[in-house]
Amino acid sequence: MKNANTINKSVNMAETRAAAKKRQPLKYKRKPTPRFDSQKYRGLIQLFWFGVTVWIGLQFYFFVYYYLAGEKGIYLPRPPGVEGFLPISSLISLRHTFETGQFSWVHPAGLALLLIFITVSFALRKSFCAYMCPVGLVSESLGSVGRKIFKKRLKLPAFLDYPLRSLKYLLLAFFLYAVFYQMSSADITTFLNSPYNKVADVKMLLFFTRVSEVTFWVLLVLVVLSVIYEGVWCRYLCPYGALLGFIGLFSPAKIKRNKNTCIDCMKCSKVCPARIKVHKMKTVHSDECFGCMACVDVCPVQDTLDMKLPGGTKISPKTYVIAAFLAFSIPILAFKISGYWHNNISEAEYREHIENIDSPLYHHNRGQVMTREKLKQLNNPPH
Ligand code: SF4
Ligand code: SF4
Repeated sequence: MKNANTINKSVNMAETRAAAKKRQPLKYKRKPTPRFDSQKYRGLIQLFWFGVTVWIGLQFYFFVYYYLAGEKGIYLPRPPGVEGFLPISSLISLRHTFETGQFSWVHPAGLALLLIFITVSFALRKSFCAYMCPVGLVSESLGSVGRKIFKKRLKLPAFLDYPLRSLKYLLLAFFLYAVFYQMSSADITTFLNSPYNKVADVKMLLFFTRVSEVTFWVLLVLVVLSVIYEGVWCRYLCPYGALLGFIGLFSPAKIKRNKNTCIDCMKCSKVCPARIKVHKMKTVHSDECFGCMACVDVCPVQDTLDMKLPGGTKISPKTYVIAAFLAFSIPILAFKISGYWHNNISEAEYREHIENIDSPLYHHNRGQVMTREKLKQLNNPPH
């Protein structure tokens, strides 16, 4: 009887141990610490480019306002980098280059930057948004203010989020349609050499320095919305981000999750600024992934979440962040050194344009630009 009890007891204990073993989480290898803090270095790279942008903005401001004030005040030379803010003009230059095999010398730096951003998006997803874009940094900063206020990241419900995300693609489609389909080759040449295109950067500066009431309210609404819903501009409205995100879909570099070692902690999804459900995916095939590497950093399990190339080659967060910095800076330096950076507009021509910037010569009507000939005809109609 005593033996039977002992046997029963041991059987129960074995069953308990087996059951406990079943409930035990899968054994996994923790990542070694300390880890490379990719978000800290990403932030430093963003700040570097933000500083470059502010410096370009200041230089351009003093250049334009020197001539607007009748050659009085502080003069700084025009920085060609300002052309990075002329995406439509650069897209038109791109079509001109496709068709003629020649570069336009009106805003060469703008085209150079567009080519760099497109190429880098193919190699490293839409890294431009995560590492370089000043609007991206402002948007993330406003979002972090919101997270402090609301103690969490607010999201739009899925039934609004999905259709709104298509807005930026509609805007992109509109611009691509206008530039690559609606405009004839003659229109392209007329636009590129028009007085309006030559001072498109000046007009853009004045858009912000002589801010209209409508612009002010639109910007304010965007700021407030960005505090409440992080990344409103980037996620729903930016056509540039849409273009780079679409190209990024074809990038060989992709976030891959090993579901055999994943412990479903969901840390990757919680930290993803693009709100991708990383913990549910084997491979992240999303146009919203901008290669920030936050998910890879936060994953606690070794060899579970990585940026990988086809064939399984891993790109460590350190390599990726350094690559994202060099991928923009080296080609920019190369374009500068090669001479394809400064335009062919003389100081005297700029002075004339800026002094007359409010003339109808520098207006456009739905993409139809004014030329000196058209203006002459308008001023002297045939009797
Ligand atoms: S999936 Fe990872 S790399 Fe891509 S945006 Fe989200 S956190 Fe960044
Ligand atoms: S962070 Fe994501 S991939 Fe890594 S273990 Fe947790 S759920 Fe899995």
